[in-house]
Amino acid sequence: MPNIVIVGAGTAGLTAGIYALKSGFDVTICESHTGPGGNCTSWRRKGYLFEGGMHWLNGSGDGKSFNRLWREVGAINDATRIIYTDPFLVCDNEGRRISFYRDIAKFETHLYETAPEDTAAIRELCRDMRRFARIFIPIMDIPWLKVKEKHPIRLGDLCGMIPALSRMVSLRSITAEDYAGRFRNPALRLLLSNVVGSGYDAMSLFFILGCYVSGDGGYLEGGSLVMAGNMEKRFTGLGGKIRYGSRVDQVLVSGGRATGVSVRGETISADAVIVTADTLAVADTLFDKPLSDPWVKAMRQGTELTMNAFLCYGFEADLSELPETAVFALDKPFDCAGMPIKSLGFHNYARYAGYAPAGCSAVTVTLSNGDTYAYWKRAKEKGEYEDRKRELSDTVLSRLEERYPMLKGKAAVRDTATPLTYERYCGTYHGSWMTRTAPGQRRAAYPRKVKGMNNVYFAGQRVMPPGGMPPALLSGRIAAQYLCRDFGMVFVSS
Ligand SMILES: Cc1cc2nc3c(=O)[nH]c(=O)nc-3n(C[C@H](O)[C@H](O)[C@H](O)COP(=O)(O)OP(=O)(O)OC[C@H]3O[C@@H](n4cnc5c(N)ncnc54)[C@H](O)[C@@H]3O)c2cc1C
Repeated sequence: MPNIVIVGAGTAGLTAGIYALKSGFDVTICESHTGPGGNCTSWRRKGYLFEGGMHWLNGSGDGKSFNRLWREVGAINDATRIIYTDPFLVCDNEGRRISFYRDIAKFETHLYETAPEDTAAIRELCRDMRRFARIFIPIMDIPWLKVKEKHPIRLGDLCGMIPALSRMVSLRSITAEDYAGRFRNPALRLLLSNVVGSGYDAMSLFFILGCYVSGDGGYLEGGSLVMAGNMEKRFTGLGGKIRYGSRVDQVLVSGGRATGVSVRGETISADAVIVTADTLAVADTLFDKPLSDPWVKAMRQGTELTMNAFLCYGFEADLSELPETAVFALDKPFDCAGMPIKSLGFHNYARYAGYAPAGCSAVTVTLSNGDTYAYWKRAKEKGEYEDRKRELSDTVLSRLEERYPMLKGKAAVRDTATPLTYERYCGTYHGSWMTRTAPGQRRAAYPRKVKGMNNVYFAGQRVMPPGGMPPALLSGRIAAQYLCRDFGMVFVSS
């Protein structure tokens, strides 16, 4: 039984491990953190649970292409309750509320009523949302692989994507904000600008909107921790071993083959190694010399980093009357890490059991405003990091209180994560957890191997831009398939 070591117990690492175990390998995962999930994580503070990794999941919906994979790796099972919040995003400007409904017919009627000045643009928006609702990522096996189960893709499903494909070229050439600029109604503009992070192309916007209106994009009850825990259980149930608190310092390579990894001076031998830690973070450090393959250089030069400040508040107030996910324009914009913030979006978990003490509510705010790593790093070096975090938390809180006066004086618990937090806990490059697909940016996956190391495979969000959990899952599955092919084993998925 070939013996495999996987670096990282995030979504990609657990996925690769589960498929490798099913296919007959002996697998050990080395994870630097104390638990599974990587960026797919949440944390508790004084009775509040702050969801930090998964807000919507492509593949939550039965029959969707990723759903089978999430089930194969145990992330979703028959007992999993999936929450489909509707509306899934609300623009909650004072006096002007516009909502994104999952029911596209309801959404269209709602828009015509609330923004009649944009009738023509609304018609086009809804037509494209219907087209993108039929888009899916075909789950294919790599060539020349022996598989136990075949899952052919239906021709009709592929043909259903043609109308959306014809729109992709133009949507890829503009940002989501440019697209939103076609609308005269300011609330609708704001809503459309806040579905994806700043600077993403409009195609990313439609991928997400299409996902939501197709009956997908739900939230798993219990969130990231449950999802990562389910995968960990599936992995260990199949006989996999996880070593937590085991940061891999080096992949040991001899004669063009990996022989194992080194963890704090201890050698763990392996017949092959799958690296699921952020490729950008480890390309210069995990091997005896920096990786220099052209694709790694292209990744270093071409990756636009998605990162954020993540602000958590525990309010001693029942906020179940407020929208679950909303955005509102700021009368008084402010700067976060030198970048202007003109609107605030929040997630409100008041209606979720177990996220806060009785009568209280957990709220999170994500400020995804470009590459702020240098700002936070500098603040740390100057000893000002905690002060800067506190200032930001105060500023955001004051804007929330201005918009929702019932919050005044109710914030009992606060916690703020910056790119340095993600870097520290997840080992991601500059704390970035996805790749921004701006107009003209690469979307294709990177190769999974480098020259001179035949049995080392790369997986994880970074090798499949833009990243996120489905690409992490898919990349882990593909790494396991390469492994099977190279070792002459049959890939087993179920
Ligand atoms: C605030 C936020 C919101 C998000 N929302 C969503 C969402 O709604 N939907 C969605 O699909 N995605 C979302 N994402 C993105 C998603 O969580 C990530 O893209 C995905 O989890 C990445 O998985 P991964 O396995 O590729 O990498 P990671 O999760 O980064 O896992 C890598 C693992 O490797 C470990 N590691 C690193 N270096 C070493 C080493 N040297 N030795 C041992 N272990 C190591 C790390 O500790 C980590 O556990 C969100 C992320 C964040 C931060």
